[in-house]
Amino acid sequence: MRIDILTGFPGLFQGPLTESIIGRAVRNGKVEIHLHDLRDYTHDRHRTIDDTPYGGGAGMILKPEPIFECMDALFAERSYDEVILTTPAGLRYTQDEAKRLSLLNAVAIICGRYKGVDERVREALVTREISIGDYVLTGGELAGMVIIDTVVRLLPGVVGDGESILSDSFMENELDCGYYTRPAEYRGMKVPEVLLSGNHAEIARWRAAQSARRTLERRPDLFGERGKTT
Ligand code: SAM
Repeated sequence: MRIDILTGFPGLFQGPLTESIIGRAVRNGKVEIHLHDLRDYTHDRHRTIDDTPYGGGAGMILKPEPIFECMDALFAERSYDEVILTTPAGLRYTQDEAKRLSLLNAVAIICGRYKGVDERVREALVTREISIGDYVLTGGELAGMVIIDTVVRLLPGVVGDGESILSDSFMENELDCGYYTRPAEYRGMKVPEVLLSGNHAEIARWRAAQSARRTLERRPDLFGERGKTT
């Protein structure tokens, strides 16, 4: 899979794309991630990517030209399955959407900034608008990182023990159960006996029951989603 990120602040991606599981996936070629600095597609001395809004009002708007010119250069090389705009007005991001994106070949992510992006970008280039939640970030970079992280960890061979992602929350419209590790007793708190039993069938049943109980208590809405496909 290839992911292209269009941003005015590529430095923000240092860390999330270089450390731990995602960093290893990049280094091992499980995913190709390319950062594009929108300032490289400007033509003025100050490398300006924003301007004041027509009609007046507070805040600046990301100019259309750097985004269109960057996408022109990318489209000249390949087609994209999705051109994503990160925006609070987008579709609320879910694990189902992460699963869907993880099956695609090439995705571009446009990170908004300031008051937002010139509407013509949305109208002419964007195929999917994604919000990561009902709150407002300073910029779309963190939203882009959330999308990348959630998608890349689903790619084959990225998470060491691939089975572990199958029981993660939301993979089957259920929350994951709680887990324990050594020591078996800590400050008087004991690990449930069944987990020490070595009986894998019993343990699987216990975990399934824990997941179901936790989902019922905290997110009963998820049970209504069972059987839903994307
Ligand atoms: N004026 C915009 C509005 O109220 O919808 C908010 C602009 S916000 C300060 C700047 C950029 O951050 C947005 O263009 C978008 O790319 C990104 N952003 C902010 N909140 C987001 C969210 N919940 N999900 C995805 N992107 C978000």
